[in-house]
Amino acid sequence: MSGAESILRVENLTKHFSTGSGVFDTVELDLSGGFPLKRNVEHVRAVDDVSFEIERGETLGLVGESGCGKSTLGRTILRLLQPTDGAIYFKGRNIADLDKGELRRTRKDQQMIFQDPQSSLNPRMKVGPIVEEPMKAHDLYDDDGREERARELLEAVGLDPQHYNRYPHQFSGGQRQRINLARALSVDPDFIVCDEPTSALDASIQAQVLNTMRELQEEFNLTYLFISHDLSVIRHISDRVAVMYLGQIVELAEKEELFEDPKHPYTRSLLSAIPVPDPSQAGSRTILQGDVPDPVNPPSGCRFRTRCPELIPPDAYDLGDDEWAAVREFMRAVRRRAFDPESRAAVEAEFFDGVSLGGEAGAAVDDALDHVAATEWEAATELLTDSFAEQSICAQEQPAYELPSSRAESRFAACHLHRE
Ligand code: SF4
Repeated sequence: MSGAESILRVENLTKHFSTGSGVFDTVELDLSGGFPLKRNVEHVRAVDDVSFEIERGETLGLVGESGCGKSTLGRTILRLLQPTDGAIYFKGRNIADLDKGELRRTRKDQQMIFQDPQSSLNPRMKVGPIVEEPMKAHDLYDDDGREERARELLEAVGLDPQHYNRYPHQFSGGQRQRINLARALSVDPDFIVCDEPTSALDASIQAQVLNTMRELQEEFNLTYLFISHDLSVIRHISDRVAVMYLGQIVELAEKEELFEDPKHPYTRSLLSAIPVPDPSQAGSRTILQGDVPDPVNPPSGCRFRTRCPELIPPDAYDLGDDEWAAVREFMRAVRRRAFDPESRAAVEAEFFDGVSLGGEAGAAVDDALDHVAATEWEAATELLTDSFAEQSICAQEQPAYELPSSRAESRFAACHLHRE
């Protein structure tokens, strides 16, 4: 942060959803009476212990795969969802605990723009009254004043004020998103959460709407939290970028710094997956293996560890880079049952050719090879996980490191590769 005024500060923000709808419930019955004695409702940890600040006038991009919790985070910050824990300081005041009446008064200063411009506009209302709705809700201006402001805003977002009396279906997708922008701006907010606002638009229209959003930001002194799964959109619009994985922020940095020198393996894999126009310039891609873990029961330590291509070797073993790379690859392949174990010798040759492992690490791998040769996949997976994956610092401690930055006061990366 550069020391400018912070408009929003989120501290240890957490949002869990209970899975009490049935399938995950564990109900133990007292068979004599038939009454439930214990009911364990599990929790989806959609947002877990998230902290960051946004300066007035800046755009913080929030990026991550779908389902990582970024939309839930945006909605929780605006109190459209009730936080489970943590604080949300908006213009210095913690709004996490405000009652409905107090919250309603802050709504004017905070708006949200959603992905689908079609469904967020009432098809039976004309555009003018749509833009005027929030002004009415907050008792701003008289009827004439509202109409005048709605026409001004339509022009400000790049639409013809003469279209005040048209219906939403008479506009294109990009124009409809501009109507949403006008409506959000009508109450003169300070802060807007933009949740994938251009994802439903063609690329050329996307760029135009993003440019308009930038211009409006200057004109109205707006602050944006801009949520997207699309890194090129994030790069276009953001000043700083936060990368989210499984409910947590894993990296936060000034935009160019993050794109030029990512410090978290997850960010690196996201960036390596961006399509480049010339395939010969594609460089080495990191294809993430395995599925995103269940947010009901996320991995201990670093949540990315079950998919991380750079998992750190356990300190207990003295493994060289090649040895650890071979063990890590073998462990992954066994977990995914990704090969056909024709014979022990063939498996050993495939994964450990030219690599010699001694000591306890070698003994664990030997035992795992025996299990694999006997197609005892479960036993091999358990042995390798217990002997290696669970012994890594990545499994044992939650990472959080402030790193030096050439462009901002500091940057953040949740990865033990920076522990020195
Ligand atoms: S802490 Fe370990 S598992 Fe997590 S990103 Fe860093 S190296 Fe990978």
